[in-house]
Amino acid sequence: MTVVIKIGTSNITHATGHLDIRHMEKLVKVLSDLKNAGHRIVLVSSGAIAMGVGKLGLAQRPADMPGKQAAAAVGQCELMYTYDKLFSEYNHTVAQILLTGSDVENDARREHFVNTMTRLLEMGALPIINENDTVATEEIAVGDNDSLGAIVACAIGADLLVLLSDIDGLYTADPRRDPSARLIDYVQTVTPEIEALAGAAGSGLAVGGMATKLKAAKMTGALGIEMVIANGSDPQLLYDILEGKNVGTRFGGNREAQK
Ligand code: GLU
Repeated sequence: MTVVIKIGTSNITHATGHLDIRHMEKLVKVLSDLKNAGHRIVLVSSGAIAMGVGKLGLAQRPADMPGKQAAAAVGQCELMYTYDKLFSEYNHTVAQILLTGSDVENDARREHFVNTMTRLLEMGALPIINENDTVATEEIAVGDNDSLGAIVACAIGADLLVLLSDIDGLYTADPRRDPSARLIDYVQTVTPEIEALAGAAGSGLAVGGMATKLKAAKMTGALGIEMVIANGSDPQLLYDILEGKNVGTRFGGNREAQK
């Protein structure tokens, strides 16, 4: 199957902005194995700004736009260098694609993107996508990689979008504050009641939160593409997710047909 996997900043970097080597290596190993098994894998990777912060030795994530863009320019190199090096160990070839919101809204550019993606997947490469942060101003930015993941999954007609981050899935309440919070394992449709469960989370060097994930679920759900939110701290979970097993929160699709 064709799977778009979005990995969050907190899964591959430490709070210092430096590479989380242990997690990155585990992720690359699992993705390489899934590719070896015949799946077409597309990675949407965050972490450029954080890794720029680490590499430039900044005390914190810059608050201003040029500062963030400069950090992303430095960090994106480091990010791709690391992916290239680690995937090469398993004989996989990566390709970098940087997009902005206006690229995917423009019909001609969107078509070029889809054609290139199709060709890359035919060639057996593993496309790694991020927002083109160095040029993405507020007006043209997608803004978060959950939405970017959904845009990519919809554009290429993927079978599944997996959003990996530092939370296990969608809960009935905020699990950090409410001990009675329960993980919801399946959501057929994102209703206003489901949307009301999303707090405006997202901390430290990361962007996004449950609200952007539910927005992504609405986009993919509209095209009948399944989506899973899961904790990226254990990339091995991807094996179960691709087999349709209960991990995190699964959205949309016809679950009965899979049993
Ligand atoms: N494009 C940003 C980065 O690579 C991350 C955006 C996001 O995580 O949603 O640092």
